[in-house]
Amino acid sequence: TEAYLKAMEDARALNAFVLETPDIALDMAKESDRRIAAGDTGLLEGIPLGIKDMFCTEGVRTTACSKILDDFVPQYESTVTSNLWRDGAVLLGKLNNDEFAMGSSNETSAFGPVLSPWRRDGDDTYLVPGGSSGGSASAVAAFLCAGATGTDTGGSIRQPAAFTGTVGIKPTYGRCSRWGIVAFASSLDQAGPFARTVNDAALLLRSMAGYDPKDSTSVNRPVPDYEEAVGASIKGKKIGIPREYRMDGMADEIDALWREGAKWLEDAGAEVVDISLPHTRYALPAYYIVAPAEASSNLARYDGVRYGARVPGRDVVEMYENTRAAGFGPEVRRRIMIGTYVLSAGYYDAYYLRAQKVRSLIKRDFDTVFAEGVDAVLTPATPSPAFGIGEKLKADPVEMYLNDVFTVTVNMAGLPGISVPAGLSADGLPLGLQLIGRPFEEETLFSLAEVIE
Ligand code: GLN
Repeated sequence: TEAYLKAMEDARALNAFVLETPDIALDMAKESDRRIAAGDTGLLEGIPLGIKDMFCTEGVRTTACSKILDDFVPQYESTVTSNLWRDGAVLLGKLNNDEFAMGSSNETSAFGPVLSPWRRDGDDTYLVPGGSSGGSASAVAAFLCAGATGTDTGGSIRQPAAFTGTVGIKPTYGRCSRWGIVAFASSLDQAGPFARTVNDAALLLRSMAGYDPKDSTSVNRPVPDYEEAVGASIKGKKIGIPREYRMDGMADEIDALWREGAKWLEDAGAEVVDISLPHTRYALPAYYIVAPAEASSNLARYDGVRYGARVPGRDVVEMYENTRAAGFGPEVRRRIMIGTYVLSAGYYDAYYLRAQKVRSLIKRDFDTVFAEGVDAVLTPATPSPAFGIGEKLKADPVEMYLNDVFTVTVNMAGLPGISVPAGLSADGLPLGLQLIGRPFEEETLFSLAEVIE
């Protein structure tokens, strides 16, 4: 714990942590030492972790990296983080993220952008770590914590993991409790871990996952020993390669890595087959209707009365307006406007309802290939390696949204997806491959990812 606290101090330029909690960390570590001495060792005993600032931590400031939650100190602990502390993990601090987890580069945070510890060969341009869990990805990649939590609504664990050469898994919807996590789009949000190895990710997920009656969408199923799946044989597993993911203009090196990944799985005994997921191209537009719709509804609670910041006005309506105008950043305001529009009378059927129907078709595509015996689907995790700070933020927002083409389908269908480092780009940056599994079969993903890692 002391070594990680020192590393965090030395790497403050990355802006990965928005709050360091050294006193809490050292107390928790001492407790851990006591338990170890007493022979009472938990699954994650003494393991120092960073927590994305979307998770409520009791008595520890939680902001979702928004000015509107400035100085919000929760009186409760999220279920996922409680599970980690129950197993002996140590809290190092809270990690930076895009404001309310909206973004793909960690540049929309009220605390400023996070830098990736990576650089292109022979080029000192600062690169984004991806987003929205950019602080988690950067901190794990730079050895500022042994592992971290993330949340993934459309790719926010898998895309930053791919950009930073770390392992990130979004489990099946319902596997981890959403209780005490700041809500973005409730039907898509899932928590998951970031780690430096597949084995570490398996350990972390085992601790984080589990049924929780406080989240009505949490699923009551036993959590398997994921670590056992790491290194297990993948002989006879059927891997689908979806032709619709071979997008126009995809970089040759991404395509080459994808083929190479399929070859590694084949060499380890898996059977690789071509499959079709015909509604893939509608996933991104449908996601950018469903996610903002749910966000606009969830964010209605930030009214200057119940949480965080308040900017006074002459009457209560003006107080709401002043608070929300001052508290939300530009990307969050854009989402609230899009979401309010697609939910409004007269547009609901044309946008929101239609997007929900598209969502069912996307899910059905996956159901069909799984029914045909496919165990997992292999795709690239991202359409490109990490880009430079500022490179995409000012451009058309759609350009930023395109980062999510390979990841949003998984949230729309509620499936588990893992991003695993698989190689380097020509200019020396990490590239990831994504494996998508059947519902509640995260074990298969761990077994397959271990072969690629
Ligand atoms: N980049 C996507 C968005 O901005 C996904 C974010 C996320 O998964 N939290 O909505």
